[in-house]
Amino acid sequence: MHSTNATKEIDPHETWVEVLSALQDEYGEATSKSWFSKLEFVSLSSTEVTLSIPTNFMKEWISTHYLASITKYWKKFYSSILKVDITISNSHANIVQETPNEDENKTKFFNKFSNSSSEIVSNDDLLISSLDTRYSFENFIVGTSNQLAHAAALKIANAQTVDSNLNPLFFYSGVGLGKTHLMQSIAWHIHYTQPGKKVIYISAEKFMYQFVKALRSKDVISFKEQFRSVDVLIIDDVQFICGKESTQEEFFHTFNALVDNNRQVIISCDRSPTDLGKMEERIRSRLGGGLVIDIHDSTYKLRLDILTYKADQAKIEFPKKVLEFLASKITSNIRELEGAFNKIAAHSNLMGKEITLANTQDILQDLLRANEKEVSIDQIQKKVADHYKISVSDITSARRIRCLARPRQIAMYLSKILTQKSLVEIGKKFGGKDHTTIMHAVKTIEALCKESSELNEDIAVLTSLLK
Ligand code: ADP
Ligand code: MG
Repeated sequence: MHSTNATKEIDPHETWVEVLSALQDEYGEATSKSWFSKLEFVSLSSTEVTLSIPTNFMKEWISTHYLASITKYWKKFYSSILKVDITISNSHANIVQETPNEDENKTKFFNKFSNSSSEIVSNDDLLISSLDTRYSFENFIVGTSNQLAHAAALKIANAQTVDSNLNPLFFYSGVGLGKTHLMQSIAWHIHYTQPGKKVIYISAEKFMYQFVKALRSKDVISFKEQFRSVDVLIIDDVQFICGKESTQEEFFHTFNALVDNNRQVIISCDRSPTDLGKMEERIRSRLGGGLVIDIHDSTYKLRLDILTYKADQAKIEFPKKVLEFLASKITSNIRELEGAFNKIAAHSNLMGKEITLANTQDILQDLLRANEKEVSIDQIQKKVADHYKISVSDITSARRIRCLARPRQIAMYLSKILTQKSLVEIGKKFGGKDHTTIMHAVKTIEALCKESSELNEDIAVLTSLLK
């Protein structure tokens, strides 16, 4: 390697070759070929290197994932370098991607809606603008709770043809457990490795919004066209259109058209297809007609692995003890865990102080308290049963007599306000009741509390006992 005091004699083009080879050593040949080989050296000033890349997508990706390393290697040769800038080289910008060979037996329907190439470009932009570059397979950490979901996602992302056993692919879990991350990883992966395929990633909420907009502007045809000509349709948080009659119907038609024509559909939801109460039975059963996978609550090990990875990426000195502490205390979901991590990292950056267990506890006071407070539904059922001198099995049973029904509703109500569990999850813990039953209980108790000071007091006592 060159030494830094020989700086003046180094030709930057040669340096770039060396930087590339160092990057290949660090990340391997595949990554190097996919990403670094597309970069071109443009110029060098005393503090800044400029490189170029054909597309904005590649720029974003490299900036998020590899810029720190690229900068690090340049600095080895030119210690005064502060920044590596990536610009878009226009030479490739106008290349239009052709659709791959259309299958022969495409239906009339699809022929009617087949795309012109200019639309493909704009649809590409549409996809990219709705994706987050942080959500890739590379930084999705696999553990026992999500390994099946991850394996299925990877399989679909790599598939050249659609396997009807995996279509539709339906993911469900509570919030913050990685559904969106996984689905966007699939979109990125296909977009990058099979650029001829048309992929749409959209939240169900946005789908609804666009549909309503199309209805208003009497432009339903192009709305349909946009969705029905895709190879892979990914719809996030489908529970949003549950109970929204016309959107639900339109979604169902789109869904059927795609699945029947052997296009891949991927769906996420906060509950299983069978728990989608407000959705019609025929829709529910079709949604669950492929592969249905739930992502479970995270384990301590997964949480620690995620934190360790993040600390490594952020290049911040996090004592192992602090990471272990966070992994054991912030158990609600990965989003909160990340939030806690970011807060500590930002704090240490701003204050320039090292991270210790003591200041971590201090900074996260509120969050830690909230996570501690979390009582379990089991505890609630037991306390309520004790209080009303009935048994826990009375509470989870379906018997309707008043002296059991009221305590049961109180236990349901407390489960809703004292835990982070969804109505569906609570329903399950009460002998498999529908989430609407839980909702009804919550409303009933709220209404009764307004009238009865006795009930109010009971609830206050129970709450303080549980906390
Ligand atoms: P959901 O869509 O299920 O509510 P998200 O996909 O939005 O959850 O995940 C919440 C946050 O947690 C995101 O920032 C995501 O990157 C992160 N996350 C979740 N699971 C993992 C994982 N296995 N590895 C790395 N990050 C994860
Ligand atoms: Mg999500």
